[in-house]
Amino acid sequence: MTRELDLRPEKVWIVGAGPGDPELLTVRAARLIAEADDLLVDALVPPAVYQGVKARILYVGKRSGRPHLSQREIEDILVRLAREGRRVVRLKGGDPAVFARLGEEVRALEEAGVPWEAVPGVSSFLAAAQAVGIPLTDRGEADRFVVLTGHGGEGRSLPSLPAFDAATTVVLLMAIGNLGELVAAALDAGYPAELPAVAVSQASLPGERRVAAPLEALPRAVASARLETPATVLIGQVAKRLTQTKPHSEVVPFSVELRSATLS
Ligand code: SAH
Repeated sequence: MTRELDLRPEKVWIVGAGPGDPELLTVRAARLIAEADDLLVDALVPPAVYQGVKARILYVGKRSGRPHLSQREIEDILVRLAREGRRVVRLKGGDPAVFARLGEEVRALEEAGVPWEAVPGVSSFLAAAQAVGIPLTDRGEADRFVVLTGHGGEGRSLPSLPAFDAATTVVLLMAIGNLGELVAAALDAGYPAELPAVAVSQASLPGERRVAAPLEALPRAVASARLETPATVLIGQVAKRLTQTKPHSEVVPFSVELRSATLS
């Protein structure tokens, strides 16, 4: 049974676009994208996700080196378009509740009295784990995972990692720029140098790549592979099959063959 979507004008839908592969859109997200008058799109959402739609597309995301709108400007546009009676869909990479400024946008909409609704999406960390075929939790190996940003934000220091715990999988988003410092801090804090780790870039997209290494060697391996962003880093025992098969500094391009080899 499909739910009736409340696509009345003057409402803003904040929609998770998933990690990039259009097949990983939710059915609801796909319906909303198809019906929208205006799509406000973040930089991490690839065009394949909204190809051919009738909506007007507004690119509002940060792209390296190019001028971009401030968060405040984006919020003002959302409010203005809703008040003009447009059906507005704010499309965000992955899930809108994971490092995606959902709170700020919702506050702005509520202050302006604009109704809103959010639609969850497949977060990139889930796609990254699937890309390398490792579980985030595994009976006997990991009973929890923690997802954190590796980016302190303008002028802020590095985020602090959780205390080492062998049964916790650590997932880092936005960590490639600071990877050397983050790993040094982790080792200082007692994370084992040999702890399995893997970085996955462009999970679910045609350019998907991965680099697996023991934690200590990961920054060097990522740098020498010139791994591109966006990338997600997974650290923990659950990644061990990958690092055992391809120790130290190996770039492992995604392929079904390798995947089954690493998991056997
Ligand atoms: N809301 C998003 C996260 C935004 S933060 C989500 O739920 O996925 C942006 C970070 O997400 C990037 O720096 C990177 O760490 C990660 N990311 C986004 N898309 C990715 C992808 N296709 N593959 C790997 N990591 C990705």
